[in-house]
Amino acid sequence: MAELEGLEFGKSDFVLLDEVTMEQFMDNLKLRFEKGRIYTFIGEVVVSVNPYKHLDIYGKEVIEDYRGRELYENPPHLFAVADAAYKAMKRRAKDTCIVISGESGAGKTEASKYIMQYIAAITNPNQRAEVESVKNVLLKSNCVLEAFGNAKTNRNDNSSRFGKYMDINFNFNGDPTGGHINNYLLEKSRVVQQQDGERNFHSFYQVLRGGSDELLKSLYLQRDPAEYAYTSQGASVTLASNNDSLCHKAVMAALKVIGFTTEEISSIYKILSTILHLGNLQFTSDGEHVVLVGEDTVKHISELTSTEPENTRKALLYRTVATGGGEVIEKGHNEQEASYGRDAFAKALYERLFAWIVGRINSVIEVKDYNPALHGKNTVIGVLDIYGFEIFDNNSFEQFCINYCNEKLQQLFIELILRQEQDEYQREGITWQHIEYFNNQIIVDLVEQPHKGIISILDEACLTAGKVTDTVCLDSMNKKLGQHPHYTSRKLCPGDKTMEFNRDFRIRHYAGDVTYSVEGFLDKNKDPLFQDFKRLMYNSSDHVLKEMWPDGKMSITEVTKRPLTAATLFKNSIIALVDKLACKEPYYVRCIKPNEVKSPLLFDDGRCQHQVAYLGLLENVRVRRAGFAYRQPYARFLQRYKMTCEYTWPNHLMSTDQEAVEAIVNQHGFEDDVAYGHTKLFVRTPRTLFTLEQERAALI
Ligand code: ADP
Ligand code: MG
Repeated sequence: MAELEGLEFGKSDFVLLDEVTMEQFMDNLKLRFEKGRIYTFIGEVVVSVNPYKHLDIYGKEVIEDYRGRELYENPPHLFAVADAAYKAMKRRAKDTCIVISGESGAGKTEASKYIMQYIAAITNPNQRAEVESVKNVLLKSNCVLEAFGNAKTNRNDNSSRFGKYMDINFNFNGDPTGGHINNYLLEKSRVVQQQDGERNFHSFYQVLRGGSDELLKSLYLQRDPAEYAYTSQGASVTLASNNDSLCHKAVMAALKVIGFTTEEISSIYKILSTILHLGNLQFTSDGEHVVLVGEDTVKHISELTSTEPENTRKALLYRTVATGGGEVIEKGHNEQEASYGRDAFAKALYERLFAWIVGRINSVIEVKDYNPALHGKNTVIGVLDIYGFEIFDNNSFEQFCINYCNEKLQQLFIELILRQEQDEYQREGITWQHIEYFNNQIIVDLVEQPHKGIISILDEACLTAGKVTDTVCLDSMNKKLGQHPHYTSRKLCPGDKTMEFNRDFRIRHYAGDVTYSVEGFLDKNKDPLFQDFKRLMYNSSDHVLKEMWPDGKMSITEVTKRPLTAATLFKNSIIALVDKLACKEPYYVRCIKPNEVKSPLLFDDGRCQHQVAYLGLLENVRVRRAGFAYRQPYARFLQRYKMTCEYTWPNHLMSTDQEAVEAIVNQHGFEDDVAYGHTKLFVRTPRTLFTLEQERAALI
């Protein structure tokens, strides 16, 4: 059995703190980080601090140490949680999920990969080919999703710019039989615009740097990303920590393993290059009409998208509109409309490509022909790796959505952690004491409530005919939400110079105040794309591309129904996600980012304390301790501590395990500190268990 850690590494579980104070919590967290112990438990929750350096704690032997063990038998680790989720799923046929949260760069995606690797390593001992192939696709899908969905940001060189929830299905043997990936809100604005120091999605640089000469030639691409407007704005083209060219080869290989056909792979790269070419298209005016600069580029685009050059040119310069009388006319763009349309088209191409790739992976790993009567219950482990709370200097629509999502997940955390405790006490017939939390439901309502919430107000503004500006929409929010304790703006609070008039509003989130600039909100929410582009793509003779644009089928007179807005679509997808998580047994990994400079040495007390506070970790410890910090099935408890009592060593003669456990407890004088459930012993203070552990250690 693996040794438990010594005390010089601090307390391996925060419930063991002498007192639950922020000071003690932080001291313990810091001590452990400095000693290279990046994981600490709060009961079954793992708190993780990004080490920003390679640690030798994920190898085969470590996996073996954790396999099939109970949480308290080993030092805290992601593997312990992964194993707990797996055991619950396998032994009790429970659907479980592992929710990984934390801000950008805190280590969520790395954690999700280690968890997947662990699950892959401990399953399918018989090496059955079909199971191996499912595992392989699940693991390889990460590589592809990261290439297309991750980018260098100022916070993280490999930042996921989408949310990911992956279900892994298991058969009654506990072997993976398939899976399903849901993706959430890809940050598509990055396709056409990047901040200083940031890059576009990795995929663009990878093909430019790693594609063969023939591939680049066939795509009419130059090798240097500086040649393309969409890949050179952030002025941070090279990434020291990752090799674009090598990654390109890995992605190509992964696509093939997953089962993408040559035709499909070719279409993917044609779409990427189409986007790069679009970015270099310019529009000017000849005095009367808008004209395109770069006829060759248009030719390349139509060749790459298998469309007619004349149609491509038209879609870029005109839009078709239906007049009141049912007549259809072509209306020329002005320069601004043309560039706007081009960017919207590029973003939509990328977004649909990404969604299509996810769908294609799903079609390969989806469980087919599963017959419960034949194969037993099909159980699931879900892994959620989704963007954490974001506070930037400039917060826009994207941050608004992301932070709303975090409010929802925090709400779920509160409910599940409390509910789980409550359920367990009830099941075991034990009375328990309630702990108060800050309930963030009020903020969730502020955002999502029908008719009254911010999303409703935004949608209403988007539906209003004529020119409703962002400022008008802000006014409307001020009017409707002025009384809300978690909403404010400069108009409502004129003395507050940290906000701008007619531009900013502020939400008091559970994790802190965030000021949003309303500029661009309506446009991003409406997310318009001229129907002409959709029709152009639908009429492409490239089947793969055509498949991504089914809505291009409609003619202009048929397009009457307004599509749902971006915020409403997002809200619906997050509500569906929460429903999915809520019916599973949850396991949590709470990730903390130790500093802003990616240093393995620096523990920034202020930043860390802030995260501990808003993740609600102290309350988590309190809840865990309020009732009973530890609980163990009688048989387990006996097995571990029977040597500390003369009546139970080596074997007891009592009629039940519970009686034997009572003998141990009584011999040590812990009667007042425990309660006897139907199947488990509940221990109130951690010290009791600690004493037992020490006594046990002295005997072996
Ligand atoms: P997030 O998904 O939370 O934004 P990532 O998981 O991408 O953050 O982590 C950011 C970076 O931090 C990684 O690219 C890696 O360099 C480092 N990192 C995160 N977790 C670990 C770990 N367990 N061991 C070593 N380095 C890590
Ligand atoms: Mg990530």
